[in-house]
Amino acid sequence: MRLQWRGAAWFHIVPSRFRAGGGPTSGDSGSKNTAKRQARRSRLAGVGIVVVLLMVSLFAIWSSQLAARAAAAATEASRQSQAFDRAAAAVAAEEALAHKYRLNPSVSVRADFNAASADLVAAFQQAYGDAGPEQRTLIQRARSRHDRYLSSIEEMFAAVDRNDTMEVSRIAGQEVDPEFNAIVVLVQGEADREHVVAMARIQEVQNLHDTVRGLVPLVFIIGLLMVAGLAAITRGYRKLLDAERAGALYASMHDGLTSLPNRTLMGDRLDELLKAGARTGATTGLLLMDLDRFKEVNDTFGHHYGDVLLRQIGPRLQTRLRSSDTVARLGGDEFAILLPNVGSLAAATRVADALQEALESPFHVEGVELEVEASIGVVISGRHGSDASTLLQHADTAMYVAKGSDLGVVAYESDTDTHSPERLVLLGELRHAIENDELFLHYQPTLDMGSGEVTGVEALVRWEHPTRGAVYPDDFVPLAEYTGLIGPLTRFVLNSALSQARSWVDEGAPLQVAVNLSARSLLDEHLPRSVEELLEAHGVPAALLKLEITESAIMADPERASRLLRGLADLGVEISIDDFGVGYTSLGQLKNLPISELKIDKSFVMTMHEDTSDALIVHSVIDLGHNLGLTIVAEGVENAEVLEHLSAYGCDDAQGYHLCRPIPAGEIDQWLSDRRGGRAGEDWGLRKWRNLATELFAQW
Ligand code: C2E
Ligand code: CA
Ligand code: CA
Repeated sequence: MRLQWRGAAWFHIVPSRFRAGGGPTSGDSGSKNTAKRQARRSRLAGVGIVVVLLMVSLFAIWSSQLAARAAAAATEASRQSQAFDRAAAAVAAEEALAHKYRLNPSVSVRADFNAASADLVAAFQQAYGDAGPEQRTLIQRARSRHDRYLSSIEEMFAAVDRNDTMEVSRIAGQEVDPEFNAIVVLVQGEADREHVVAMARIQEVQNLHDTVRGLVPLVFIIGLLMVAGLAAITRGYRKLLDAERAGALYASMHDGLTSLPNRTLMGDRLDELLKAGARTGATTGLLLMDLDRFKEVNDTFGHHYGDVLLRQIGPRLQTRLRSSDTVARLGGDEFAILLPNVGSLAAATRVADALQEALESPFHVEGVELEVEASIGVVISGRHGSDASTLLQHADTAMYVAKGSDLGVVAYESDTDTHSPERLVLLGELRHAIENDELFLHYQPTLDMGSGEVTGVEALVRWEHPTRGAVYPDDFVPLAEYTGLIGPLTRFVLNSALSQARSWVDEGAPLQVAVNLSARSLLDEHLPRSVEELLEAHGVPAALLKLEITESAIMADPERASRLLRGLADLGVEISIDDFGVGYTSLGQLKNLPISELKIDKSFVMTMHEDTSDALIVHSVIDLGHNLGLTIVAEGVENAEVLEHLSAYGCDDAQGYHLCRPIPAGEIDQWLSDRRGGRAGEDWGLRKWRNLATELFAQW
């Protein structure tokens, strides 16, 4: 990750529309709320159902009690009504039999009369039992009238038996008939009333029956609704459970922070793709991406910024991917990208390049602009492995090589694999080589283009391997860089170079020595102190040491690099920017750094005589560098033609095989004296070249 200088500060505050919002957390809380709502609704529905059930059962109890009471009342009313009907009938029978006796007295009529009157007494008895207090008074009144009636009847029957017609008529007219009429009025009245009451009670029962019959469908419908409600609740719960299960499954397969697939899901998908590929022959690409120096975002701005940044990575990458591709977060700042049917390694590498490009525009994290870079390891199925774990391991190795070498994108090669047995051996041997002085330095001079004087030499490390022979720095410096051996290596080179510088001082021909620093050395905060101690230890003036740092090493962390370079410059050491032009630094970005020299990368210099755009780049770097007061060195000068061009453009110093190859220190003295001897005769031809080149440039 490159926290680039943007303007004068680490970051600028940008409008709040860039502030990160939404994201998986808000989605999470949304689904949590829905689940809560669903649970509350289910609980409410449950309580509702209980209430409805309670109401229905209360209704059933209430209606059955009401019906029982109404039925009891109706039964009682009808019994009473029957009793009074019986009484009325008995009264009528008494009257009829009394008449019959008057006309035709006989024992049987008399017996019948007595039976009728006993029946009436029994009817009164029956009615009295069920009667209310008022009715009881009435019955008692009727009874006493009946008693009087009976005694009058006794007298009347006696008169009949005596054939005393006068007396019979008198008793009948004065006693029997009035009593009888009063009894009839009482009994008949009560019979009619009881009949009305009984009818009313029966009507009530009927009404109740109708009401209940009307309520039954309602209760049935309520029951149906309840069943439907229960079904809905059950369905709701099932849905809730399903959602929870799906949520848990999702969580186990996705990264909580970014919601991207996690290592497990990525592994599953890779397995599937490899299985399918084994049948169809399709090639799967796997990219392993690690953000560079992500830790520094966390350290500088806090974890919140890091989190927000991580959330933005997936969507940014997806803009360059097909919908069938998978971006997964494996953890920390490590991502994996699955490319189904990618076709070839070249195609997979192109995707990786596109992803790097996608990360180029800055990320906006809550008002802070952050620039991100990543290292990507590329593998494809078949060529780099046929199972997920081998592919992942190889992609990991390639990614580490990309990181260590600042290459950005690296496709897996078995010989860059430090985990391959051969690499592991080499690593072990390098450690051993540093300790056992198998390493030594070659020196390559740099010449002033105007005077042809040697301005200094660059120390280049060499390894004479006991069995492999010469091993070149490009083969082991990157290895050292990402394994922690770079510290001891740098120390060895500094120590040897300063010791040599001291020898040249002692010989009376002091030479400035340039030492290359790796990007990792810039992370070592003790470097200025170590350099100071070594200068002191060898008694070499600081001005005789130059440190070459690549622009990409500085841009990896400009603030830290600036601090460190200032510490070194304060010692009096000269700082040179190496391999200038291959990075993306503008000269403006370098103007605040304590540097005095730019070395134009040899990739432009070597071809500038045949490639006009390279020539143009070299020319403009020279012009702009001069405007900033910097000395410009061209490295990789391989022929006279290039030297002529450089001379025409006003380049200050030159270095390259055409002038001198890197050679052992012992040969430098020889070379120097040869040089001086030769120069007297040919004046290096530099002036001539410069004139010629100026002419050429004017035409061009
Ligand atoms: P560099 O710093 O750019 O060093 C220049 C490289 O270009 C050297 O390769 C040198 O031999 C080569 N070179 C010089 N003139 C020409 C030329 O005219 N044409 C071509 N094609 N090449 C030329 P070398 O020695 O193999 O070093 C390669 C790289 O290894 C160096 O690139 C530097 O980045 C690194 N390196 C070398 N020594 C050290 C060291 O002591 N410490 C660190 N950290 N890195 C080192
Ligand atoms: Ca160099
Ligand atoms: Ca260089």
